[in-house]
Amino acid sequence: MEQARLYVLPPLPYGYGDLQPYMSEEQLRIHHTKHHQAYVNGANAILQRLDKARKENLDIDVKATLKELSWNVAGHLLHSLFWGNLAPPSRGGGKPGGKLADKIVEDFGSFERFQKEFSQAAISVEGSGWAALTLCRQTGRLMLMQVEKHNVNVYPMFRILMVLDVFEHAYYIDYKNDRAKFIEASWKIVNWDEVDKRLEEALK
Ligand code: MN
Repeated sequence: MEQARLYVLPPLPYGYGDLQPYMSEEQLRIHHTKHHQAYVNGANAILQRLDKARKENLDIDVKATLKELSWNVAGHLLHSLFWGNLAPPSRGGGKPGGKLADKIVEDFGSFERFQKEFSQAAISVEGSGWAALTLCRQTGRLMLMQVEKHNVNVYPMFRILMVLDVFEHAYYIDYKNDRAKFIEASWKIVNWDEVDKRLEEALK
């Protein structure tokens, strides 16, 4: 069977209501089924348009197409990482353990210092975007990345360990326009085991 070779919306590793009270069922459902889905659909539509244009040898606006493709593909990939970074409050939040805990202290001085810098990165994203914890494999350092939109200020090839979505669509139902309140709440539902797992894999 020929593969469709298209993007697919990944299922969440928990139920829509499982991140309450920090993220409501309605907020999470709309974020996943409408906003994330829109990036999947957007990316696939462009891929299919490209397939058609190549097959029929039609002219396309390459610059505009690649810009639109980057927005949609990066949006899809960041959301896919984001869902895995979250866990129900019964097993999420608190502080990291494992290798990650040691690495954070080594590179940031303390967990509290890391948390403060990450929150500040998230709060100060210009417009819509993401805060990310990444690993630079050349220096072995953990580095914060402040992404504007889905694809501006990205360090190519850095391994992304943890992201926080600060598009207003991530929190408008629960926190209106209060990004800081959303960021504070999000620390209660971080899946540290997953972040640690991604670090272990990135260090291999
Ligand atoms: Mn989002």
